[in-house]
Amino acid sequence: MTSLHFTNARLYLGDGVWRDGGVLVRDGRIAAVGADDELAALRDPGTELRDAAGGSLLPGFHDTHVHPPMAGSSLLGIDLMPAHDAGEYRRVIAAYAAAHPELDTIVGVGWYGDVFPGGFPTRELLDEVVPDRPVILTSHDGHGVWVNSRALEAAGVRDDVADPLGGRFVRDAAGRLTGVLLDTAVQALAAITPPPPPGFLEEAILAAQQRLHSVGITTWHDAAVGASELGPDSFDSYLALAARGELTARAVLCQWWDRDRGLEQVDDLIARRARAAEVPGLSAGVVKIMQDGVIENHTGALLEEYADGSGERGDSFIPPEQLKTIVAELDARGFDVHLHAVGDRAVRECLDAVAHARTVNGPDGGRHQLAHLDVVDPADFDRFAALDVTANAQLLWARTDTEIVERKLPMMGHDRATRHFPFESLRRHGARIVGGSDWPVSDPNPLWAMHTGTTRLAPSTDPHATGQALTEPLLAAEALPLATVLDAYTGTAAWVGRVEGATGRLAAGYAADLVLLDRDISDGRGLDTARVVETVVAGVTVHRA
Ligand SMILES: [Zn+2]
Repeated sequence: MTSLHFTNARLYLGDGVWRDGGVLVRDGRIAAVGADDELAALRDPGTELRDAAGGSLLPGFHDTHVHPPMAGSSLLGIDLMPAHDAGEYRRVIAAYAAAHPELDTIVGVGWYGDVFPGGFPTRELLDEVVPDRPVILTSHDGHGVWVNSRALEAAGVRDDVADPLGGRFVRDAAGRLTGVLLDTAVQALAAITPPPPPGFLEEAILAAQQRLHSVGITTWHDAAVGASELGPDSFDSYLALAARGELTARAVLCQWWDRDRGLEQVDDLIARRARAAEVPGLSAGVVKIMQDGVIENHTGALLEEYADGSGERGDSFIPPEQLKTIVAELDARGFDVHLHAVGDRAVRECLDAVAHARTVNGPDGGRHQLAHLDVVDPADFDRFAALDVTANAQLLWARTDTEIVERKLPMMGHDRATRHFPFESLRRHGARIVGGSDWPVSDPNPLWAMHTGTTRLAPSTDPHATGQALTEPLLAAEALPLATVLDAYTGTAAWVGRVEGATGRLAAGYAADLVLLDRDISDGRGLDTARVVETVVAGVTVHRA
């Protein structure tokens, strides 16, 4: 195995500590961290030299909430993510349809609602481009699907269809379906959604892996493994890739909690955990539970009514008493629980469930985490530290894009808008914070997330920055310190993924999971324009610009 010597670098050791010098890598591990001349004396004749030229060298980044199979699928099919314009969507869809006459059904992802008048696209727009075959396009946040008329016909979905729990069919003033289905309503398309061809998921994961390595990710938590409304089951695909040595990242597989089943599924989760444990670099000791949807669709669960006069408070996907039983059982069986909690009521219900588990099983149970945290009631700030619950933050979301200012904030109302993504408040109350992109919901670049996390402004390089997102911070007082966001993607993330003794730090004996940047970021400036030069996992270069 090759030996590498990174010299002339700004080293981030973890916990806010920087120093100048280099790192010597041997046999997949960090052999030494120190001054350049000290390490030079330790080199072998075959050691490859890497001059960092003053750039930052950090532990490889961990994305603790990401959906690589879904994101990778977009890299292989219709991908609307690079655009932010209805005309451009039309052009991309038409070109894809023309290039794929063999497909009976066309699928794709990545549209943003705010490019359309009223916040949603319509089926007529798609009918003009593809009238003859079903088209099914998932939104960038994964919570909405845009279809053409042919898709609704094929699925047998008519105007008189009832909204399911946790979902909605968008209708016009006359009650006609507009071609947008939200959250669980998407299940109505199950019969016409083509199953992925053999090997497709493996290809998708590899495409995602390449992209994630290119932004410095060396470990990820797949936040939905198992058949779900977010996509097909990718568990066997991960195992197959790992067995062939093609999975070059470390992966924590968060097993999907099937809300249509009960505690009897725990034995299946345990069996899968055992299978993953046999594979180096893989683990499956986490269970992912969705407790609500998103604010924008009225499916985020709020303590008080939405402020838009709808009278709604959002759905608790699982009744709170049942959630307590589930979390306590998973905690007792040695699982860490990763809970989707957007609204302040969902946050409280999830914290109550962990509190119940701690009471029943004792305080030393799972490393549980709550993801998203769009609104947190101040009465719950202290409970994260008290219950040892980690806040899983999508830092890149905390900004003043048009979609947020014009659509989301009015739904939240003034008081709740002052507690929107309250990450610094949580930190000051002792909460441990980790970072996740939720890609393909938003871009996977951790440097962008760190930029927004520390400024509450959009990255200057982000095509989806709209309105005042580049100039008006979203609650500037909620900006986090640089060390917190760096640790959120390195040392703290390693802890929540149970690999803290192996990776997440620059120290002798740790795995050589490294990311080299083209500049010094130790003053916290230029995070949004910094670029990854090289990514290394266990001493092997997996990306080089
Ligand atoms: Zn997610």
